[in-house]
Amino acid sequence: MSPGDPRDVIAAKRDGLSLDPGELRAFVLGYARGEIADYQAAAFLMAAFVNGLDAAETLALTRAMVDSGETLPLSGISRPKVDKHSTGGVADGVTLVFAPLAASLGLAVAKLSGRGLGHTGGTLDKLESIPGLRTELDPHAFERQVEMVGCAVAAQTSDLVPADGALYALRDATATVPSIPLIAASVMSKKLAVGTDLILLDVKAGSGAFMKTPEDAEALARACAALAKEWGRPTRVAVTDMSQPLGDAIGNALDVIEAVEILRGRTQGRLRDAVVMFAGEALSRLAGVGMGEGRAAAAAALDDGRALESLRAMVEAQGGNPRAVDDPEDVLPRAPVRRQILAGRAGTLAAIDAEAVGRASGDLGALRRRKEDPIDPAVGIVFRSKIGDRLEPGQELGEVHARSQDDAEVCVARVEAAMTVVEGDVEPPPLVYGWHGG
Ligand code: URA
Repeated sequence: MSPGDPRDVIAAKRDGLSLDPGELRAFVLGYARGEIADYQAAAFLMAAFVNGLDAAETLALTRAMVDSGETLPLSGISRPKVDKHSTGGVADGVTLVFAPLAASLGLAVAKLSGRGLGHTGGTLDKLESIPGLRTELDPHAFERQVEMVGCAVAAQTSDLVPADGALYALRDATATVPSIPLIAASVMSKKLAVGTDLILLDVKAGSGAFMKTPEDAEALARACAALAKEWGRPTRVAVTDMSQPLGDAIGNALDVIEAVEILRGRTQGRLRDAVVMFAGEALSRLAGVGMGEGRAAAAAALDDGRALESLRAMVEAQGGNPRAVDDPEDVLPRAPVRRQILAGRAGTLAAIDAEAVGRASGDLGALRRRKEDPIDPAVGIVFRSKIGDRLEPGQELGEVHARSQDDAEVCVARVEAAMTVVEGDVEPPPLVYGWHGG
């Protein structure tokens, strides 16, 4: 179908009309083929951001994005296949731990991951801080690795959902990311193009997420679950808390170090709890065990080193230095300057603006400003306190890893400004607000 005059689609959305599914499809496929200019696609995205897309438009957009490229059926994989995707957060290292953990439990994780978007980090950038590790895998190598090792985390190829690849970059550059239908179509098109037995989605809610309230995140979760139902794909969607960084590390190499610590069974906390919850859900859906049994099996594989061995196998298979798993502090790039973050006064940590902390880490070099920019894998923030913690004056809350003293000082001040400390007790937020899908 030829795109017709793209201005008609832009004008209809600008005026708040519902688009004909066929016209919307032709526009998206035309853009993916390079027949529609970036500025026209950007105008469409802003109109869709402002006026929204209804369920039929969101379905047509998702279908067009899936159909813009190849699909990856993964029919050569014998283990039960699970995919997991987060809508993006700060210190969200779930995939780094979940993929090897699920592999060590007999599941297959075929994960196409993204790079940092807005103020949120990306799994590919984190993994690429391991010297030698490749994330550009051709589809055959990807599938072979999943069959042999149980997990692979790779970049989306230009053949798979190319319309999302192009629109995603444009959205990042035009401040049109935090839109429920645009995120639902973007996330689900990538998941629907890959043939897995279970899709697990982690929709984040709070200051560090694109959806700032649990209500908006619930709406996004329902939109994703509705798309999965149209395709008849088993999908479970959790709405989880992102009102503070999930783990402690907000960078790239720093996140790998934290992931290795969790995979060694040495670190407890909300990041480990989230991973165990998703692994338990996967086992209960794919291996027929009870939820409690699934979580216990996941915790055991973290504690006895099986999950760490799966990470080693994945790193080796993707060309990375396996010593990163034994001695990450020695092998991964490290920043030359470290500055402590100290509590200024006694009280309880009541809030931390996770987006502000994500941006502060980004400005150290951990994220890109433009999509062609390089990132600095070594820099970032480690922030160990969580909402509800009692703080004493002078207590060390974490540290900034920077290229220069000036960068470090600016960043420490920004983290301090992002914290709210109050008298009295504060209830920590829940880890999960609810589950959707079936
Ligand atoms: N993650 C995605 O894959 N797409 C979005 O639009 C936002 C987060």
